[in-house]
Amino acid sequence: MAKVKLATVWLEACAGCHMSFLDIDDKIVGLLDKVDILYSPVVDGKEIPKVDVGVISGGLGNEEELHLAKKMREQCDILVAWGDCAVFGGINTMRNFMTPEEALKVGYVDTPSTVNPEGVIPREDVPALLPKAIPVDYAVKVDVYVPGCPPDAETILWVFQELLEGRIPKVPSDMMRYD
Ligand code: SF4
Repeated sequence: MAKVKLATVWLEACAGCHMSFLDIDDKIVGLLDKVDILYSPVVDGKEIPKVDVGVISGGLGNEEELHLAKKMREQCDILVAWGDCAVFGGINTMRNFMTPEEALKVGYVDTPSTVNPEGVIPREDVPALLPKAIPVDYAVKVDVYVPGCPPDAETILWVFQELLEGRIPKVPSDMMRYD
């Protein structure tokens, strides 16, 4: 039986969701018997290829992330929103109480740990912020939601096992975890 082709991408997020995936430890060996990871932060791929399952961790806060979410949607049959940032917007939405310009000033100028006396805010080669930070399904259709911050490793494994059995998983509330 052909292996399931998988791509994962890490957008506006911390590393927690992908770290939680690695927490499945040695069970990853059994998973890799059935799954080929073709694109991921831990794989050196340049373009998102055609895959069976695409996974997005992180929300969407800038033009590049929006582009990657749309690209992932085009390239996959089943799209998984993985973690609270992808499902609900997560902590990224804290900046929605201000304008993008105000958020840039806070980030590049005002924070106590920043030394930027000239108040320079980089513009070139930096993707423009979207008006608001948003969850993935504000931009593209999502097929599977995996809430949690991060989702528990066992929950992530269960979701993959369900997908490998040909089912679209609905994560039960007792499998959701918030550390
Ligand atoms: S859901 Fe939590 S662990 Fe995952 S990327 Fe967002 S902040 Fe990090």
